[in-house]
Amino acid sequence: MLNSPGPKVIAWELTRRCALRCKHCRGSARDEAYEGELSTAECKQVIDGIADYVKPVLILTGGEPMTRPDVYELARYAADKGMRVVMAPCGHLLTPETARKLKEAGVQCISISIDGSTPEKHDAFRGVAGAYARTMEGLQHAIDAGIQFQVNTTVTKLNVDDLPSILERAIALGAITFDLFFLVPTGRAGALRDLEISPGQAEQALQWAAEMAQSAPIRVKTTCAPHFARMVRQAPKSATTAERPAGHPAFPHGGGTGHGHGGGRPVSTGGCMAGQGFVFISHRGILQPCGFLDTPSGDLRNQDFNFRQAYEASRVFQDLRAHDRYEGKCGVCEFLHVCGGCRARAYELTGNYLAEEPQCTYVPKRLELQERAL
Ligand code: SF4
Ligand code: SF4
Repeated sequence: MLNSPGPKVIAWELTRRCALRCKHCRGSARDEAYEGELSTAECKQVIDGIADYVKPVLILTGGEPMTRPDVYELARYAADKGMRVVMAPCGHLLTPETARKLKEAGVQCISISIDGSTPEKHDAFRGVAGAYARTMEGLQHAIDAGIQFQVNTTVTKLNVDDLPSILERAIALGAITFDLFFLVPTGRAGALRDLEISPGQAEQALQWAAEMAQSAPIRVKTTCAPHFARMVRQAPKSATTAERPAGHPAFPHGGGTGHGHGGGRPVSTGGCMAGQGFVFISHRGILQPCGFLDTPSGDLRNQDFNFRQAYEASRVFQDLRAHDRYEGKCGVCEFLHVCGGCRARAYELTGNYLAEEPQCTYVPKRLELQERAL
């Protein structure tokens, strides 16, 4: 059994249904009902099971979580159980009424994705004309209802040069955080391998993010670029995001298929949190280390909704927490304990979630010494 204090953040894909066709969608979501989705009663059992174990930040995500009519009831139920409830909607279903209902249901914060500084750039990425305008309209309703928000951007070759303008937009809109999500080529994004920035570009973007984290008037952070933790520690001591206190306490983390909190994956300036304090729950109640790492790691339906038992008994979660099982250069890296490498990228490339992270350019000291000795 896993010796763990339990997850601090849980991203829950309440549904996979979504009207958008985002190119980077982890779930390749469609605008139709998905078979096997948890019922309202089952969702409450999930919440009960979690609450018996931990009181995490609970990210309600999708798909588009707001396509579920019971989303307000479930948010309230979780909030009443002591969880901090946040949400990753795409914004299109936010109206004055739904925004007010979210607020009343105890949703503390939402994330909104902006992937280009202009409507044209954003819509091209989102795959739906008018998506930008509708997102902005929905966001305004959330702002009017008094809901805080963060802006998420999925970093690709299409927008890596546009990041400063997107940040400016986020600041102008009143976001509390600007979060750069690094593309993980799984799901629909698997076809986007060509859009993934190179390891060198990633290092440059991360460097920029570190600088902005010091100078921007809002919190700037990165998600799913775990070797950022290594870069931060290699840099001369200064106040980078990793050394600053967490931003809004409701938002330590991401989730969702990609439009909101960023794909069922953690938000961290530390390393990969897959299985390290973070759990993803699918629309069918299957546990995963993160939304991008499609390795079933427990089935709540088949395990009497005993979240703790499912989580602690999972071999995958146990593996991820055992750093001595990591392979390749990550396995010998002196930064492994703070970074971990992206397990989903490793899995996508090799079929082995313990293999080395393919996007990292770093050569661990042990390997460097070995190479020198040869
Ligand atoms: S494995 Fe880790 S770094 Fe990779 S997508 Fe999942 S949470 Fe992010
Ligand atoms: S080699 Fe692996 S553990 Fe080391 S910095 Fe790179 S990704 Fe992180």
